[in-house]
Amino acid sequence: MIKPLVIGNWKMNGSYAANDALLTRMLPVLSEKAKLQVALCPPFPYLSQVGQALSGSRVWLGAQTANPNPSGAHTGEVSVSMLRELGCEYVLVGHSERRQSYGESDEDVVARFTAIQSAGLTPVLCVGETLEQREAGETEAVVADQIKAVLAAGGIECFDGAVVAYEPVWAIGTGKTATPEQAQQVHAYIRSLLASQSESIAGRLPILYGGSVKANNARTLSNQADVNGALVGGASLDAAEFMNICQAFEPQQGRPDDQS
Ligand code: PEP
Repeated sequence: MIKPLVIGNWKMNGSYAANDALLTRMLPVLSEKAKLQVALCPPFPYLSQVGQALSGSRVWLGAQTANPNPSGAHTGEVSVSMLRELGCEYVLVGHSERRQSYGESDEDVVARFTAIQSAGLTPVLCVGETLEQREAGETEAVVADQIKAVLAAGGIECFDGAVVAYEPVWAIGTGKTATPEQAQQVHAYIRSLLASQSESIAGRLPILYGGSVKANNARTLSNQADVNGALVGGASLDAAEFMNICQAFEPQQGRPDDQS
């Protein structure tokens, strides 16, 4: 049984005061959630503030990207060892906003993924198709290429302990969510692609869904067999929404996903 994981991606939002208010409302509730793994990815400048607030809680700290180089002349960038020093456990890699707006290629994604994993942190590999690609029937081919780029570099073993997030680009920040069936279909495809190399690694890989997850669609998404959690953007900035999303993914007593 895969422990559900819900990650809040704050993107480029926040301030000391706003973060404080959000954490003050959420942490007492999220800290109680033993059957669910929760992580928050604030912007770099707030990692220290959020990390301090999370210390002693059950909520993990994550970052939104990392530079693959260990140090040196990379103005404006942040290395994985710096993120580790700040207490990060998770690092997003290949988010579509970075692929589209900052030109991150599959090659860049692979380098980041490898550096994150080599530092002992958990890469959250984001994959997903654009609307044009979906309409052209290319969803599986696009997702397969993004995953195969990492497989080619690191082999199936590098997915052991990693996380994959399926995030259809057309659903991110648009208010359009993939239907639970669409999400399940792609998640099952990703798992089968990896299972063809190792059933055990594929079987324990958390595959998150991301793309306009809200409190009102989280439950039906969470009921899909291969949806093991969510990567939440906009709704993670609203304490009530995010807590309700977490609750929807929390295994319920008596449900097949209950681990108690
Ligand atoms: C994201 O940033 O990964 C995301 C899924 O955003 P949103 O939930 O706002 O669509």
